[in-house]
Amino acid sequence: MTTDTAPGGFRKTSSGRRLTGIIMNDYLQLHQRAADGAFVVWIAIVVPAELFAGFDNVVYAVPESHAAMSAGKGVGTLQCEKAERAGYSTDLCSYARIDLGTALDGGRDSPTFGMPRPHLLVSNTNNCSLLAKWFDVYHRMWGVPHFILDIPFCYEEQTGADFAYIKAQFADLIRTIEELSGQRFDEARAREAVRLSGEALLYWKRFTSLAAHRPSPITAFDSFVHMAPILTSRGTAQLVEHYRELVAETEELMAQGVYPVPGERYRLLWDSIAPWHQLRKMSARLAALGANITCASYTYCIGSLEGSFDAYAYDGGDPLDWLARLQNFSVCPHGMKLRVRAMKEAIERNAIDGVVFASNRSCKVYSLMQMDQMRSIRDTLGVPAVMIDVDHADERKYNEEASFVRIEALLETIDALRGSGA
Ligand code: SF4
Repeated sequence: MTTDTAPGGFRKTSSGRRLTGIIMNDYLQLHQRAADGAFVVWIAIVVPAELFAGFDNVVYAVPESHAAMSAGKGVGTLQCEKAERAGYSTDLCSYARIDLGTALDGGRDSPTFGMPRPHLLVSNTNNCSLLAKWFDVYHRMWGVPHFILDIPFCYEEQTGADFAYIKAQFADLIRTIEELSGQRFDEARAREAVRLSGEALLYWKRFTSLAAHRPSPITAFDSFVHMAPILTSRGTAQLVEHYRELVAETEELMAQGVYPVPGERYRLLWDSIAPWHQLRKMSARLAALGANITCASYTYCIGSLEGSFDAYAYDGGDPLDWLARLQNFSVCPHGMKLRVRAMKEAIERNAIDGVVFASNRSCKVYSLMQMDQMRSIRDTLGVPAVMIDVDHADERKYNEEASFVRIEALLETIDALRGSGA
């Protein structure tokens, strides 16, 4: 293992190098298999990709993941502008604008040469209503069928009726792919993919739970970057191996006393999607202030039931059961009660000193309840918080100085509370 350290979580680690290789290889394989005749599905981020492993020759691509990578590689704004020139509003989610800009320009300027043209689009309604409209553009433009999973919003934990409703739609999706692709679904293969995803997520949970240590051996920026293969390599042995090695390497660095924020003084929580265009800059600037955003609701929730951060382990049973029960793991489809419960748990487990709510110009569903959530966290836990304005993938809607004025004010508030013994 070789490691060069730089403050802020952007260390050159073996896991970082392996991650780059996995992502590049996943996209190369996707293009290659599509060129060789595979049935290609484009999916929304939480559509259960493990189902596709049940077929001989079905591959999937995730436009949101590709858009995040484009923003991280510095071409987010460029692709957004292409969509805007074609008439799409700047109020639309920047993931949608990046994806539309990329598709309308034939994949030009994409870090992965775009994505192969789909035979089927699968969106859902639980993260946001925009996704179905966005995929409908391709449905009309290319004449590709569009399957919409109707996933109920959850104010409480998932009900039995909702579970059955979701599971029945997965069965419909399987039948649809069988009809369109001419391939038969093999449940044993999907079961194996679910088993591997379940095992990988247990390692993921071990990795994110390391944020509870003081000082933290990880930053939220590590988790933003390393979540990528959960979207491109679901249900594979390579996914398990990556997270197993990531945990081992992080624990070894801890044993050596190597931490991403030397002299960590402030432990913060981030609430929203990653600011993909700012990862390096923001993490370095925070580290210089002795501040570590140790965890984020966005990545901490992966693999958990709504309102919790514990792993939802796979018991070896019906793979559709596990996938249906986990369908609402992400924060967007959660009501206020679930969001507050989960955030309190994260604050307490990780000894968080303050919360950064990132009000996201693109993702209204993530941002909608943040003001009330902030009030609740302050009132019930006495934990200070600030709200900053970001857009996760459109750099034009972010102001670094204005954001850091507020973040530094948060750090001063934390100091004042410590000084007062509160
Ligand atoms: S609005 Fe939010 S949930 Fe919807 S696609 Fe954009 S980032 Fe995802």
